[in-house]
Amino acid sequence: MAGGVLKRHQRDIIQTMAKLISTNPAKNYQPIGSVTISSLKEIKNKVCQARLAQPPWQNLGVKKRVGYLAKAMNLFKQNQATIAQLITKEVGTAISACRDEVAWDFNYWQWFLNNAEKILKDEIIFEDKTTIHRQVYEPFGVAAAISPWNLPFDLFLWAVVPNLLAGNTVIFKTSEECPLSGQLFETIMNQANLPKGVFSEVYGNGQVGEQLVNQEIDLIWFTGSSLVGRKLFGIAGGKFIKAVLELGGSNPGIIFEDANIDQIIPKLYSKRFGFCGQTCDALKRLLVHESKFEEMVAKLKTKVEQTVVDDPEKATTTMGPLVAKRQLDLLKAQVADAVAKGAKIITGGKQPTGLKGAFYLPTILTNVKDNMRAWQEEVFGPVLSIRKFTSEAEAVKLANDSPYGLGSLIFTKDKTRANRVAGELKAGTVEINSASHWLACNPFGGYKQSGLGREHGIHGFRELCQIKVISQEK
Ligand code: NAD
Repeated sequence: MAGGVLKRHQRDIIQTMAKLISTNPAKNYQPIGSVTISSLKEIKNKVCQARLAQPPWQNLGVKKRVGYLAKAMNLFKQNQATIAQLITKEVGTAISACRDEVAWDFNYWQWFLNNAEKILKDEIIFEDKTTIHRQVYEPFGVAAAISPWNLPFDLFLWAVVPNLLAGNTVIFKTSEECPLSGQLFETIMNQANLPKGVFSEVYGNGQVGEQLVNQEIDLIWFTGSSLVGRKLFGIAGGKFIKAVLELGGSNPGIIFEDANIDQIIPKLYSKRFGFCGQTCDALKRLLVHESKFEEMVAKLKTKVEQTVVDDPEKATTTMGPLVAKRQLDLLKAQVADAVAKGAKIITGGKQPTGLKGAFYLPTILTNVKDNMRAWQEEVFGPVLSIRKFTSEAEAVKLANDSPYGLGSLIFTKDKTRANRVAGELKAGTVEINSASHWLACNPFGGYKQSGLGREHGIHGFRELCQIKVISQEK
């Protein structure tokens, strides 16, 4: 190390040895384990293996790929209790919610298995006396799939399973906030004995993700922030490859004057405060007709104050901590900015006493204005901004006043109005009253900076494929 300069092989050894420490956000950020950060050499090697494995994986056909992924699903099912426990430790999701979520995820996995063959089979799109024209779905090749931390198992399976079924080989990178969960998924996948190189993982932060996408890959499949999504879109553009981007959101919910507040409170609560407010599709900006404003704020306050914020490993806890100190600091800064500019805290607005970690009380803000960070930015934590409106046109304008366009909600008994407003909202999903869009057959994705492309459903599978037309004589 003369003169402090490392020779290339020394740098490589140090990089190989570097560890990513996982911490528990509910136990004062105590370390709970570590994984080895993937070196550039390993990343290159995994991409190379994935490339070699891809043609035979494609040639295997969808039916046989379904067989492999069905075996993998059963292994994951056998391990679901362990998966939920680990996610709770690493990410802080309350254990009861985490168990339900992991169990629910298998609906998606099963739907992918049940429908892959049907969706990916050749289609005859034109036929006359002399010719026949087929539309054929072919995989892109090697997919780099990168995920965030907020729902580790959902995001792993939504990234990996459809890609593998479509015939792409996958190198997956989980978030640096949940490396142990990622490692557990890799261990379970390995037990399914997929052919070598078909699926692998790399570990590390954004730098590792960037090293991965800069290799010779054919598809970027990314879920995460719009900021990083934009960067990856640039890289994809430079390489002239496709990027499917599932990004941030700031979903508005519109409560019209005829809505029954008592009936809709449970849905509003779970859409904003479930998973400690850390979901892309959460309700982040609530717009209430002026005639219902006071009632809504008072009733939501009562509901919010029933939240049991505590150690997420306890069965009685309904809200654990945020995932990490960096998320807590961001949330505090967004609330402080709102308060400094005139917002009113109806409840919460601080950390609870007696708990050490990234805990934050569920919070309601009113007097929210356009110039506040809590209005303009994605708020990824248990803080709800509520604003009032007087007319339908104003509600739509406020709802669309965001760089994001992931989801949206409408509450009214008037179906004509609901459908008119649904047509005006710039968002990938619109939920009217109690209906939820969360079905594996429904495509999911966003308008504006919430993403490009769709996952799930027919469209989700076809995003992962090249489309070829074969026209031939009969
Ligand atoms: P993030 O964008 O910071 O990180 C996501 C992943 O990208 C991580 O694995 C990270 O290591 C990696 N990464 C970071 N920089 C990179 C780079 N330059 N090149 C390659 N990879 C890089 O997001 P986050 O904070 O982990 O997650 C929260 C965000 O994810 C929120 O905005 C949320 O709305 C969004 N999200 C979207 C969906 C969706 O389906 N639309 C689902 C869940 C979360």
